[in-house]
Amino acid sequence: MQILLVEDDPVILAGLQTTLTNENFVVNTVSSGEDAIFQAKISPPDIVVLDIGLPDINGLDVLQAIRLNSPDLPVLLLTARDDISDKVKGLNAGADDYITKPFEIEELIARLRVIERRLGTATNSCITVGNVSLDTDTYVVKIDGEPLDVPRREYMLLKALMEREGSVLSKDQLEKKLYAWGEETSSNAIEVHIHNLRKKLYKDFITTIRGIGYTIKKS
Ligand code: CA
Repeated sequence: MQILLVEDDPVILAGLQTTLTNENFVVNTVSSGEDAIFQAKISPPDIVVLDIGLPDINGLDVLQAIRLNSPDLPVLLLTARDDISDKVKGLNAGADDYITKPFEIEELIARLRVIERRLGTATNSCITVGNVSLDTDTYVVKIDGEPLDVPRREYMLLKALMEREGSVLSKDQLEKKLYAWGEETSSNAIEVHIHNLRKKLYKDFITTIRGIGYTIKKS
């Protein structure tokens, strides 16, 4: 799950980036409204976390600009002011949710998980396909009820495929869900992760669609 984090305060930005990355989100960051609008257009993330108080363009105007290009892209607003009119304006402008600073990081994570669930097929924290289950709260993957040892990137890849069960995801789409901008990755990283997962899961759990990508067929 890739987040575009828009925040001009460098301390808050760094803190959120570290914490959300530890929670297995892929976090790309920008510090201005102009950059936010540009990046949301050329490389749309799964979710935008958008500070309202930005130095160049008001966050609400950024939201409207993003909405023009991406009507369905979920946006969660961060507002410093406990100002009801900002919240109403934000929701009217198409924000999916808002959170008032200062907030507990756990609350932000919980709200991101709600948006994430709405984007995927899962109705609760546990995604199950066939005999394989994946819990997005505890990061535990089980096969036939037995926990598997799945490192972070493999977990993120498996989650991306399981939450879009039946859909084919290209290598490019998967890379976006596993790596933030500037994170070093070899050209065959996805193939290596798929190979490792296949050794742990049922042989045909992940299907290669030649020339297109990978899928987990509906059980
Ligand atoms: Ca700010």
